[in-house]
Amino acid sequence: MNFQQKRKDLVNELREKGIINNDVLNALLEIPRHKFVPKKHQKEAYKDYPLPIGENQTISQPYTVAFMLEALEVGPGQKVLDIGTGSGYNAALLSKLVKEKGQVITLEIKEELIKKAKQNLKSYKNIKIIKGDGSQGYSKEAPYDRIISTAAAPNILKNWLKQLKKEGIIIAPVGSLTQVMTKVTKKKNQLKKEDLGFFQFVPLKGEYGF
Ligand code: SAH
Repeated sequence: MNFQQKRKDLVNELREKGIINNDVLNALLEIPRHKFVPKKHQKEAYKDYPLPIGENQTISQPYTVAFMLEALEVGPGQKVLDIGTGSGYNAALLSKLVKEKGQVITLEIKEELIKKAKQNLKSYKNIKIIKGDGSQGYSKEAPYDRIISTAAAPNILKNWLKQLKKEGIIIAPVGSLTQVMTKVTKKKNQLKKEDLGFFQFVPLKGEYGF
């Protein structure tokens, strides 16, 4: 099976669906999504839909992943907090976007998923995988240029805002049954909030989650 060709086709599909950021599209071209999904789903790895990764969790649909990363405006050298490691796929894409000088701190609450993610991310030097409750953020490594949650939160959490730099961006799905993708931009400590449309995610657990 030619995974590289499948990746190219997927990226073209995402472009047609409206993703325009070439850094994001190139990261999707580079990272082998099939290595982040269970073996029995490998042949579907480049279809534009979510897939189960065990523990009742899913790896998000590629379009959603690309949409969020585009909205996050990630660049080289940045420090990013990634909440909900899952398979590690989103962390791997972030690792490409921040490049060697940047850093990705990724938090996962489920031990079983951490084990797998550690294997999946072995070769990525600028990613730190931490077992923790993302609803509290991760103050030890704060402040962050960017914070992204791939689990649905009840709101944009106070700790996230606190742990964001004076200039920074948070992207997170907010809500219980369906979620509004929410973008918060902090500029000189002023906050701007935007709604980017409806999506569906698994819930954020933990102290300030659901
Ligand atoms: N980004 C992942 C998919 C995430 S699915 C990927 O690329 O594969 C959402 C993940 O958030 C699940 O793995 C779930 O276990 C995790 N999660 C839920 N609540 C959490 C919390 N409070 N802290 C950290 N991770 C959490």
